[in-house]
Formats: sequence, structure tokens, C-alpha cells
Amino acid sequence: MVARSVLITGSNRGLGLEMVRQLVLAPRTGNPKLVEAPRTGNSKPEVIIATCRSPHQAQKLCEVADNNKNVHVVQLDVTDESSYGSFVSRVGELVGPQGLNLLVNNAGVAPKSTRINMVRWQQVTDTLTVNTVAPIMLTKALLPHLKTAANQVEGDSLAVKRAAVINISSVLGSIARNEQGGLYPYRASKAALNAITKSMSVDLRGNNILVASLHPGWVQTDMGGKNADLTPTDSISQILSLLHQMTDHHHGQFYQYDGEQGRW
Ligand code: NDP
Repeated sequence: MVARSVLITGSNRGLGLEMVRQLVLAPRTGNPKLVEAPRTGNSKPEVIIATCRSPHQAQKLCEVADNNKNVHVVQLDVTDESSYGSFVSRVGELVGPQGLNLLVNNAGVAPKSTRINMVRWQQVTDTLTVNTVAPIMLTKALLPHLKTAANQVEGDSLAVKRAAVINISSVLGSIARNEQGGLYPYRASKAALNAITKSMSVDLRGNNILVASLHPGWVQTDMGGKNADLTPTDSISQILSLLHQMTDHHHGQFYQYDGEQGRW
């Protein structure tokens, strides 16, 4: 299993929903290019905390939860810091004394038409709030549970099944690969998220918490659009295979869904 307990933000649709769906299935091989890491049994996570802004509107997610008792739908608008206290307590009740193994900062927004003459102040700040500020503050809030999980294991090796923060970033946040310009809010938010991954990796190494940025590929979701290269199934199955394999080597780095290292 990828980890005993997993928390995914923005899991009512798109990549977050697909991750919940695949986590409740038996583990799969995913990308044949990736060598499967040895697994500790064939079991599913015991606790999957699937967060979303509006559970009462999250029909597809609630169906998964109705059929899988290990899936817990919990309300969270990642920008609502005032709700973090009660949210973190609820997470503590769900994960118990073994702590939280894996936090996936997945929730994100991507405004369109953002050439230099079109971009608006509010668009930039709103995008940064969801894609950049929230992953920092939510990780900070959940650190006690992540540390508890990391402390269940002896030694200083890193693994997702021990404790990890995975920031869902984007190739559009890569400064090295930006040849088309534009997309100011989104590019800035994901470039900053990558900087955050690096800082967290330094700060949390001593706590034995693995931190990495992941680009999921260009995926057919509401955000990626119908013409995207990958289906959510393809992207997430490869991401789950990659998560299984992550070690100290991946710490503080930027990877694509298929295990190829990204350029910052
Ligand atoms: P979608 O637009 O399909 O889904 C976005 C998710 O984020 C929704 O669940 C949405 O919830 C949630 N969300 C947005 N704002 C908030 C908020 N304030 N609080 C809580 N949840 C929120 O996007 P994808 O699934 O495609 O994207 C998932 C991640 O992958 C994002 O971080 C994105 O940047 C990244 N990514 C996606 C790519 C793609 O091609 N699809 C490419 C590269 C990166 P709600 O329904 O309530 O709006």
C-alpha cells in the first residue's frame, strides 16, 4: 500500500477524485517503465481523508465513500484558515495515534486569458492563495500528525508510507521550460510552490518527512480540458507507482507523473 493514511485536498473531481478511486482499488502496476518497489502487502490505505469544499455537492466522491468505509469525506476550503483548527482535530480522530502518513496538496485553480494585457490583480492573488499559500499553511497545520507518523519508524530513511508531503505542481511552474510566456498567476503560483517544496524538504528532513513536487502531466480534467494528453486514470496510476518508489533520492525534487525528473 502507498501508505496507511492519506489526505488529499480537492478530491471531489479531477485528479483528486481519481486518486481516491484508485486508492480504494487493489494496488496496480501503473507505468511499465517504472520498476515496482517492494510493497508491504497488498492492502489498501486504512484511512483515506478525501477533502472538498462542498461535500453535499460531491456526488461522485460520496458514492466512493458509501462503498468504501476507509474513505472519509471531510469539508475543507483550503483558503479558510479559520477552519484549520477543527479540521486538524478531525484528522487526528480519523488517523489515530499512528498519525498521518501522506498529505497530497492537490487542490488548485488555473485562471485563463492571462497575457500581460489581460491579467488582473485579483486573479493573481486568488491563484496564489489557493495554489501557494494554502499548501504552506495546511502543511504547517498538519505537521503534528505527519511527525507522529514519521516517528512510528526507526532510523532516518524516507518513504511515502512513512511520512510525506506531495505538492501537485505543474510543468508550467518551471522557469527553465517557459518558452511561451503568459499565464502569470498560474506559472507564478506553481513556481512558488516548487520553491516551497525545496524549503520544506530542508526544514522537514530532520523529521524524516519526505517532500516532493509532482507534475501530473497534461490531463483531461476540467482544468486540463478535453484535448489533454492523458486520462486521469493514466496519470494517477503512474503517480501511485511513483509514490511507492520514492526514497531519500526523491526528497526536495520535482518529478513528472512518469518518474522523469522535472526542471525547476
Ligand atoms: P480540476 O479543476 O479538475 O479540480 C480542481 C480541484 O481543486 C477541485 O476539486 C476544486 O474543488 C479544488 N479546489 C479549488 N479551489 C479550492 C479551494 N479553495 N479549496 C478546496 N478545494 C479547491 O483540476 P485538476 O484535477 O486537473 O488539478 C488538480 C491539480 O493538478 C491542481 O493543483 C492543478 O494545478 C494540477 N495540474 C493539473 C494539470 C492538468 O492538466 N489537469 C496539469 C498540471 C498540474 P471545487 O470543485 O470545489 O472547485
